[in-house]
Order: sequence, then structure tokens, then C-alpha cells
Amino acid sequence: MTRPWNFGPGPAALPEAVLRQAAEEMLDWHGSGMSVMEMSHRGKEFMSIIEQAESDLRALMSVPSNYKILFMQGGAIAENAIIPMNLAGKNPKIDFVETGSWTTKSLKEARRYGDVHIAASSLDPDAAQGKYTRIPSFDEWRLRSDAAYLHLCSNETIDGVEYFEWPDMAALGAPDVPVVADVSSDILSRPMDISKFGLLFGGAQKNIGPSGLTIVIVRDDLLDQAQAACPSAFQYKTVAENGSMFNTPPTYPIYIAGLVFQWLKQQGGVAAIERQNIAKAKLLYDALDASELYVCHVDPSVRSRMNVPFFLRDESLNDAFLAGAKARGLLQLKGHKSVGGMRASIYNAMPIEGVQALVEYLREFEQTRA
Ligand code: PMP
Repeated sequence: MTRPWNFGPGPAALPEAVLRQAAEEMLDWHGSGMSVMEMSHRGKEFMSIIEQAESDLRALMSVPSNYKILFMQGGAIAENAIIPMNLAGKNPKIDFVETGSWTTKSLKEARRYGDVHIAASSLDPDAAQGKYTRIPSFDEWRLRSDAAYLHLCSNETIDGVEYFEWPDMAALGAPDVPVVADVSSDILSRPMDISKFGLLFGGAQKNIGPSGLTIVIVRDDLLDQAQAACPSAFQYKTVAENGSMFNTPPTYPIYIAGLVFQWLKQQGGVAAIERQNIAKAKLLYDALDASELYVCHVDPSVRSRMNVPFFLRDESLNDAFLAGAKARGLLQLKGHKSVGGMRASIYNAMPIEGVQALVEYLREFEQTRA
């Protein structure tokens, strides 16, 4: 039986091979007589799972040795508070580049913990469709050279805007300001030069595994900047010193994440999956651009390879489009409620066959309405 193609933005489709392996190991993990859910997080079985997961992630992302990988909880929204609590303890200045719904949300939360300055914004408040469709060019950025950090979102999941060039902080007049990146929706989809960042964070539920797990990759020198009120369980230094075991970590999501990391290694790693992601995104954007019915407003130079938002020019057809898609096993194509229209999320686990099925449907639906 083939499963439907799931274009949901997250929690998102996982590799079928991973789901099958988890099903097989559900009642008895490797002869232990226990499900992973039933194990002590400090026992040797789970310790082997978390250590393997961490070393696989470190290898996949080429994380340098002066960065810690932390397995935390609370998702990326909690990190919007946890990051300023950790990094703006000695210096309250936080710069943001606003490129979509997630950076907007992040900066509102950060205002509770620091002095937020919007260094650049691509908000177009008057746009009828697509209020964020570009990334401000670097010469528009007004950075503070003495900020504690700069926050950006590498891929705006709702608006479909993705960075393909990282800021050169020295050239922008802020050589000492660490860059913090919300990589929730494009982590592991492409190589990233970790040394360009002070911290990367993301919820797991797109390219990594189930929700409930947050990944934080943080440079050692940033571990000691926390505000006094930061809860111990969220203090990076404490979490790092305890190997992500200060509190009970989300054991089952970490186990599934570990299986996804192994699957990704079998695919050839991040550079290989990037090639697939490029091919998938091209197929879909080309189909949208070639049509009279569909439109994608995002500037072609920053179109996300993970989340493809598009609109039907005749919006009265939206319900028929979604019903027809569902009938063909093309699930969760409705756009975010704040943006409307459609959105196809095509993370690592979406094979090109799924995108081909969507493209065929796009053409057929357009033809039947012509
Ligand atoms: N940032 C980005 C870029 C996201 O895509 C999401 C989830 N869609 C979040 C933050 C929020 O994540 P969570 O709900 O796990 O806190």
C-alpha cells in the first residue's frame, strides 16, 4: 500500500523507512525487552542512542568542536525567550532582520528580555498577497556593532523566503556580533557553514523527527552570558555541562531523530539531499511559473526550497483545488491562515515522486478549469 503524499509544514512527513524501523523496534529495542519510551534516560541503552544521534548530527552538519549540540524542549517558540535569556544577560542589545512571520514573532518575544532593534525589514504592509517576499539586501541592514547578537531566520516557513547567502558581519561593520539563526525549517536540507554563526536552533518536527525536541547548536564562548532569572533547565551552560540530561530529555523524539540522521547518511548526507531538494523545488516553481492559474509572489532569488507558497489567481477555486488534491492523496496543501492560498512543504523526506504527483495535479486542475 502506498501512503499519500504529505505536504504539511510540520509536524511533517518522515522517511517511510524510519517509521517502519520504529514500528519494528516499538516493543523491544535491540533485545533490551523495552520500548525506547520505557527506558531510563541514564541507562546504557538510551545513552548509546543519544550519543550516536549527537555524533551523527555533528558529522552531518560538520559542527566544529568548539560548538555544543544541545537536545532541549519547548520548540522554537520557547527558544524565542530562551535565547535572549541566555545571550543578553551582559548586554541587552538584540538586532533582528525581519523577513517574515517567524522573525516577527521572535522579535516580539525578545522585547520582553532585551532592547530590540530591527536592523532591516522586508515587510510590505500594503501587499494584498504575500507581505514578505524578499530579504533586505545587505546594504539596507543597519546593524549595531555593539549588539549582543543578531537574530535571523534562515527559512521563513510561512512566507517561503530562504537565505542563500549569509551576512559577512565584518563587512557590515559588526565583526563581533554573533549571528543567531532559526533553522527550524531548513536544518539538514543543505550544507551550512556553522562557523558563520554563534547559535543555530530549531524545532525538530520538519526535517528531523517528532515535535517535542529542540536542537540548539551553540558556540562555547556564548554559554556564559545568561540572565540571572533564566531557568536552570533552559540555561545553555547547565544543559551543556549535563550532556542534555539536566532534566529528562525527550527520549523518544531523540531516538527517532537518530534514525532520521542514519537515513540521511544513507542518502549520501546533506550535500546529496541538497541536490535532491534543488531538483524538487525547481520542478515545482517551474510548473507554477509556467501556469496562468497559479502565482508565487516570492522573489525568485530567495524562494524557499522547503516551503513553496502559492495562490490561485481565482481564489474562488481554492476549496475545489484542495478537495481534488485530497482525493488524489495530496495532503495538507492549505496555506497558513495568516497568509492564505496554498503552501507545499517539500522537506527532505518528500521524494521527487511526490512533487511530480503534485505538478501533474496542478496541470490537470488548471486544464479542467480553462
Ligand atoms: N520558527 C520557524 C521557522 C518555524 O517554522 C516554526 C514552526 N513552524 C517555529 C519557529 C515554531 O516552532 P514550535 O511551534 O515548535 O515552537
